[in-house]
Amino acid sequence: MQKKIKIFLEEELESLRDQKLFKTERVIESPQGAEIIVKEQKCINFCANNYLGLSSHPDLIAAAHEGLDSRGFGMSSVRFICGTQDIHKELEKKVSEFLGMEDTILFSSCFDANGALFEPLFGEEDAIITDSLNHASIIDGIRLSKAQRWIYMHGDMRDMESIRSSSLETGKGLERCLKEAQNCRFRVIATDGSFSMDGDIAKLNEICDLAEKYDAIVMVDDSHSSGFLGKRGRGTHEYRNVMGRVDIITTTFGKALGGASGGCISSSKEIISWLRNKARPYLFSNSVAPVVVSSTIKVLDILMSSTDLRDKLERNTKYFRAKMTEAGFDIIPSDHPIVAILFGKYHNCTKLAVSFANKMLDEGIYVIAFSFPVVPRGKDRIRVQISAAHSIEQIDKAIAAFTKVADELGMFNPQSLAQK
Ligand SMILES: *Cc1c(COP(=O)(O)O)cnc(C)c1O
Repeated sequence: MQKKIKIFLEEELESLRDQKLFKTERVIESPQGAEIIVKEQKCINFCANNYLGLSSHPDLIAAAHEGLDSRGFGMSSVRFICGTQDIHKELEKKVSEFLGMEDTILFSSCFDANGALFEPLFGEEDAIITDSLNHASIIDGIRLSKAQRWIYMHGDMRDMESIRSSSLETGKGLERCLKEAQNCRFRVIATDGSFSMDGDIAKLNEICDLAEKYDAIVMVDDSHSSGFLGKRGRGTHEYRNVMGRVDIITTTFGKALGGASGGCISSSKEIISWLRNKARPYLFSNSVAPVVVSSTIKVLDILMSSTDLRDKLERNTKYFRAKMTEAGFDIIPSDHPIVAILFGKYHNCTKLAVSFANKMLDEGIYVIAFSFPVVPRGKDRIRVQISAAHSIEQIDKAIAAFTKVADELGMFNPQSLAQK
């Protein structure tokens, strides 16, 4: 039996390698930060979700030590048996205040939060209406519920937009899905706040308008937005001016909010109470470690006392986007610190993007290339993630490296363009 599966997997792994889909991991020999050490070489990191530069922030490390000393290392329990400390309650209260919601429930990760959310709330008589590019954890969470499903074309509110943008996309828009689901008991629209591949931001204002028109609940996963989008960094709902109109927010503490781990769901008192009683990843999985809880409290204190970090991130993002556009790169417009630099217009764009990323590492800049099947064919790209931890000098160094490598690879030569 064991032999059989080993032989089977050997072949499958070989085939992954043949298709260039086998994932390898680069090993970092330093803390996470703007500058990291890879293969004993210093490089500037442009591919972490360390948006606010908090991953190795001294105040967080101090808060973690304090939590460790005062509340110990582990809880050895789920929340409802003996896994709730005062600091867990304090963090839940702080998150609610930060996001502008009534109540919050903690999870070990946002993956768990999304896995926990749908099954207890939505059954066969309900409709979940979901953006086609939603995160894997939303997709899996929806799969666990027995609700009926509608998938709307990414960001398409009314059918027309997808037909205009690409003749290949012929799915439904959000409004059509809402109309078709009118006979269901509850309708919930589920969307990422910001989408990680293009760095585009959900049109939550339009989504909330449609939700109100068709009596639906709005759920947003703000993992790539919490802490920095919006004037005070509260997230996509603040950025789109719909605070108070979003019903459920899930988010992670593993990105901008410190970067260690943990996640949550914020919503009304009733929904959170129900989830405390019914959500399986909450009932049957360990409490968030005190160290993570105390440092996440610190993160929220920092962010609620000053907007300096998100302001710096915004400035860095604007600067990088403007300079890269000026230098002639094809970037997807957005206000988000995820910057997708597209290679589709060049010959052999997949190979080009990969060799580009490798050459960037030789220049001391760590960026990652993404190709099919992670992104659609012809949408090969390098994704850059800007951080508040980056100095302008570091960003300038990255732009200079991009320009140098593009020149070396002949990208500024008109003959490098693919014939269309
Ligand atoms: C990263 C991410 C998650 C997973 O968060 P974890 O806390 O690391 O499990 C969930 N949803 C979205 C949209 C994400 O980007």
